[in-house]
Amino acid sequence: MAPLDDPRQMGRIVQRIAVLTSGGDAPGMNAAIRAVVRSADARGVDVYGVYRGYEGLIDGRLSHMSARTVSGILHQGGTMLGSARSKRFRSTEGRKEAIRELVEHEIEGLVVIGGDGSFRGADALSRESDVAVVGVPGTIDNDLSGCDYTLGFDTAVNTALEAIDRIRDTAASHQRAFFIEVMGRSSGWIGLYSAIAGGATEVLVPERPTDIEELQRRIHEAFAMGKQYCLVVVAEGDDAGGAFSVADRCGVGLAGVSHRVTTLGHVQRGGAPSMRDRILAARLGDAAVTALLDGEDRIMVGEINRGVVRTPLEQTWTHIDRTPQELLDLMDRLAR
Ligand code: ADP
Repeated sequence: MAPLDDPRQMGRIVQRIAVLTSGGDAPGMNAAIRAVVRSADARGVDVYGVYRGYEGLIDGRLSHMSARTVSGILHQGGTMLGSARSKRFRSTEGRKEAIRELVEHEIEGLVVIGGDGSFRGADALSRESDVAVVGVPGTIDNDLSGCDYTLGFDTAVNTALEAIDRIRDTAASHQRAFFIEVMGRSSGWIGLYSAIAGGATEVLVPERPTDIEELQRRIHEAFAMGKQYCLVVVAEGDDAGGAFSVADRCGVGLAGVSHRVTTLGHVQRGGAPSMRDRILAARLGDAAVTALLDGEDRIMVGEINRGVVRTPLEQTWTHIDRTPQELLDLMDRLAR
């Protein structure tokens, strides 16, 4: 329990907040920055933008933002504030410098748009200062608990899907097997969704051990069943390695099957955010400001079943959101 004289518990009016983007960039981050700035502006709260994540915070790269500063960014991928991975912020000393900057600018609340790493940092900052923090889930990986979808996931899957559709055209023309690598170092969400939506034959995700011999058998079986092509979607963090490694290991066993490898890479991070990501960004950016005004601290705002839910930040890294077995089974049934 916070002591009764804790100003945050006494309903003190928050007058100045800051917003930053951190970790891996994701489409929709700009839309979320815009929502935070405009929502705060509409409620008479001053907003500062922090450039280049925690690294920029330590270096005092803060700038006052107005409703006009965020004009014309809604539809752009990336983040106008820039992002960074900051080694310095991982140490107490580094965070002390960051806190000093926030105190000097009289900032009482900080909105952090990022993934679980960024939230760990935000949690530490809040515990070591009087600055309240609220997280907005911004990562293409969709691996945070406390929300149905993270910002950027929908756009990234749509980008992967467009590529998979194109690959299917050429795969079918030559009766080939294709190994298509999508992003996801520890999470199979992009792989699973793009595989189901793209009608892939197989999906390899980090959450499920890969049996190479079984995979070879199933590829042969697919062609034997009359399929004209075989698409194997491989999440980059699969235990058998990325698409090149899986194709190499399958190699000899695929005698008689022509195969190719495509790695989609960073194209999945860029591009205009989808409608879903824009709406999510609008809702969550606004909800983050509301949460700070309500005196919340160390929580993430996320959308669950169409409603906005507040989840303790810590839960976002202690409860990892893994791809559900039910959807992996669905994928397997429909690929026959
Ligand atoms: P993401 O937010 O996309 O998961 P990272 O894991 O790279 O990205 O985290 C972004 C930044 O958050 C790191 O560069 C670091 O500055 C900070 N951070 C990550 N983990 C911690 C931690 N345990 N303590 C303090 N800061 C952290």
